[in-house]
Amino acid sequence: MSLALPIVLQGNPVLHTAAQEVPVEEIASPKIQELIQNMIHTMRNAPGAGLAAPQVGESLQIAVIEYPKKFLAGMPAEVLLERGMVEVPLHVIINPELTLIETAGTAEFFEGCLSVGDKRGIIPRAKAVEVRCLNEKGEQVLIKAEGWFARILQHEIGHLCGELFVDKAFPETLMTEEEYQTNWRSKTIDQIKTALFKSEELTE
Ligand code: ZN
Repeated sequence: MSLALPIVLQGNPVLHTAAQEVPVEEIASPKIQELIQNMIHTMRNAPGAGLAAPQVGESLQIAVIEYPKKFLAGMPAEVLLERGMVEVPLHVIINPELTLIETAGTAEFFEGCLSVGDKRGIIPRAKAVEVRCLNEKGEQVLIKAEGWFARILQHEIGHLCGELFVDKAFPETLMTEEEYQTNWRSKTIDQIKTALFKSEELTE
């Protein structure tokens, strides 16, 4: 039976350290398979859109991602479109190599993190990425992702490199979950930047 593992928080060194590669021959081992199942359970239980092994105290290059349809409920259509938000089926990502597709440009949106507690902030991310990795069976896969899925991949692979979203988020936009839900969840990024950035920062 899968367990909901304790999630470690910002300040724990395991979150600020690059994670170890998993030897391909160990992926089928009971230890790694059990960890993957427990990570999926922990992500769904939290609930979160993804979880990386360092977040449960394991310095290993493993992440799980899933964005179910229920997370899209209540979001205005224009926000869904702007963020490229779509349902993402369960993915298990091991030893990923991330390539940002520079020609696709970047997008700025809010993120949160199970390891950062009650905080949201806007962070720029590449709009499109490719990820070469192994799956839970140890098979080589190439994931081509855009929009929201590309963002979740960059967030989770950041964890495997010892990075948290707050390291790169715009500091003016860091706020509590309550403030985000009450005042900003349904606003466009332009509206939010106009309201929160000092006026000289808006000139480009
Ligand atoms: Zn996170």
